[in-house]
Amino acid sequence: MSREAVVAALTVPELAPVVDLVVWVEDGVAVAANHVGRVRLHLDGRHEVVSGQDPVASTDPMAFLPYAAELGAPGPRVSTDNAYPYAARRILSAFADADRSPDLAVVHTPRHFFPDEGGHRGEHGSLDVIQSRAPLVMAGPGVRQLGPVDDHARLVDVGPTLAVLCGVPETDLVDGRGEPLDGAPLAQYLQLPPAPAGGSTGGSTGGAVGVPKKVVGILWDGAHCGDLLAMAEAGELPGVAWLLERGLALRGGAVAEFPSVTLTNHTSILTGVGPGRHGVLGNVFYDRATGERVVPNDAATWHRSAEWLRSGVRTVFEMVNDHVPQQNSPRTASIDEAIDRGADYGTMALLREAGGFQAAADGMGDLMPDPASSVFLQHPEHLDDSYFHWGMQVDDLGLQQLLQLWEDAESAPVLTWWANVVTDAGHHGGGPRSAMARDSLRQSDARLVAFLDHLETLGVRDEVTFLLTADHGFEAADPGVTGSWTPALDALGIPYRDEGPGFVYLL
Ligand SMILES: [Zn+2]
Repeated sequence: MSREAVVAALTVPELAPVVDLVVWVEDGVAVAANHVGRVRLHLDGRHEVVSGQDPVASTDPMAFLPYAAELGAPGPRVSTDNAYPYAARRILSAFADADRSPDLAVVHTPRHFFPDEGGHRGEHGSLDVIQSRAPLVMAGPGVRQLGPVDDHARLVDVGPTLAVLCGVPETDLVDGRGEPLDGAPLAQYLQLPPAPAGGSTGGSTGGAVGVPKKVVGILWDGAHCGDLLAMAEAGELPGVAWLLERGLALRGGAVAEFPSVTLTNHTSILTGVGPGRHGVLGNVFYDRATGERVVPNDAATWHRSAEWLRSGVRTVFEMVNDHVPQQNSPRTASIDEAIDRGADYGTMALLREAGGFQAAADGMGDLMPDPASSVFLQHPEHLDDSYFHWGMQVDDLGLQQLLQLWEDAESAPVLTWWANVVTDAGHHGGGPRSAMARDSLRQSDARLVAFLDHLETLGVRDEVTFLLTADHGFEAADPGVTGSWTPALDALGIPYRDEGPGFVYLL
């Protein structure tokens, strides 16, 4: 009864500029509603319109492509002009955790500007296609050389793809309970030798032609798929262009889980399952079982993120380590990544030993490099943005860690995961395609080129398999579209929490 009252209050036409959709799960079926109508979204693709018009008319993952179509559109004003890929199954996953899923989720309109509640010029988190579209570029041994392809994948496919490239047999792409993952390896884009007879044992480095010896997964947080590919094709991102020449890119990218926020999707990438299974429901969520507000995506708590993983979850580092014999150097490495459980080397593990981010900074003096003197700095004016400033520090340190791990090719990890953060800062600060966003892409590319050059000096650049992705997309907010649904919720006089904002828990 109270959910119906809340839905009614949030779907009034007056809130249409800020409320794109309200979504929830009822009798095991995903439901979406807004001021134009209500629909039940069945897993078989059926849209059962309950009232009015279908507010989720399109679920096309390839909507607003080619990129010129996105550039030419002013941005959808109503949900019926937008697209929501995998809406049913993504909503179902976001509502599958009995303690941590909200009672309903409010999706911001793409244009909503909410700086008072943590919003930025560039935003993500929505169920919609542009905010959910992360790039996906692969290259090197084991990857087909196809260039740009008109196709898409899902971020839950990334972990399984990295795993099979590292030699994990497909029969072992399961969680800790033996259940299949939500994602699957992108087999149609790989050319791996047939599994040895008898299957699931043995190391990953067979030495046959086309067998990946080392795999590097790269995440550029929030990198915009269309702009990244367009800049690479225009010669502005030589590192990405180098990957594209030797491999492929999906123009539809990889679809994030819902909500399309950072830690939910880092976790989905590295576990191959959606939030309803891994338990990281958002960057901020409420846990009814403990009565605790959990904030896993924060410099103060990043290093603790593995604590929030649900039992039964298995990380890609654990999957790979189960199939690579112990050696004197790390088999798996996780650089600047919160979800590092099981990795032999992890930045966050180092922070845990030091007692956390702040303790590390306090105890070891100013260990963060000065971004003003970074060789990757191109536009000093962007350092006025404190998040961009910090992102450059993290990424410069990340590159240092990467080069140390790859001091020689023989002892380098079988799987290296290398997360970068300045791209998220650039896209938040200026919105996609802004000078700051493009600066962040160029400098991340320059760090990639520095690594590629290093591999060339080692003589192994063509022996390494790469996968470059992100955790979500980005859309530009309209500073003229402000407002909040909070007064409408408050007016109901019912006890609730709104985390995010957007995850509404009825108490
Ligand atoms: Zn992110």
